[in-house]
Amino acid sequence: GEAKLQLRHAPSEVKELAQTFNMMLSRLSEAWEQQRQFVSNVSHELRTPLTVVYGYLQSLLRRSTNLNDYQREALETATSEADRTIHLLQDLLDLARADSGYIRFNLEPLVLNDLVVEVAGMAERFSNRSIMVNAVGDVEAIGDRDRLNQVLINLIDNAVKYSEPEQPIVLTLEQSDRQAVIRVCDRGVGIPLHDQSRIFERFYRVDDSRTRLTGGHGLGLAIVKTLVEGMEGEITVRSKPGEGSTFTIVLPT
Ligand code: ADP
Repeated sequence: GEAKLQLRHAPSEVKELAQTFNMMLSRLSEAWEQQRQFVSNVSHELRTPLTVVYGYLQSLLRRSTNLNDYQREALETATSEADRTIHLLQDLLDLARADSGYIRFNLEPLVLNDLVVEVAGMAERFSNRSIMVNAVGDVEAIGDRDRLNQVLINLIDNAVKYSEPEQPIVLTLEQSDRQAVIRVCDRGVGIPLHDQSRIFERFYRVDDSRTRLTGGHGLGLAIVKTLVEGMEGEITVRSKPGEGSTFTIVLPT
């Protein structure tokens, strides 16, 4: 339900004030809902035609046999920018849905070991990096299998993006009392202390000149946080520039 100020035994002036306050509150939440709806509609309307553009560009690239260097580069850039923007729109849709509570969490008891090994294996094949999994015994948690997959893929994707190919990426599983702990650890560029509290914000990126090359929009961690909190878990980061980053997820059991 909606938050409301109730002052049953207050003098009438204060009651009037409370009424005004409640009216403002409900206007505000209407405005929020409209904004979410707007973002969601725009994202959806843009994604559909852009997917068509992307499809044609890709098939042009594949079918054209005698392109000159300029033509090939132009097509490749256009294709990858279209792809990037489709991802952005998908992320915006996901966030708008999460904000309005439309993301359903299918919470169930999970044994995390197989799930984590599977995601790591998939990420290894995609990224050509070696990803280690450390676990002592079976680690159990309550969570949503698909959402947790999405969270781990995002974190591993970042670990890959923000470290060098020869630097290791390690996933660790631990069971502590009434909690399961998953860590995603890299030895890459790291994150300055004053940015660490902000990287979970929407569109926040550390040092744009450094990260522009890596292609994201700064929405990945915002989605990760929303999903983890939707599973009643918590996510934190520890990092040191030049030494690497560790993202820690704690889930209930
Ligand atoms: P994106 O990677 O698309 O920019 P994210 O929301 O996933 O967006 O991350 C936000 C920012 O946090 C990134 O731009 C990057 O500066 C920083 N970051 C995230 N993960 C890591 C990591 N493993 N190592 C170093 N920096 C990271």
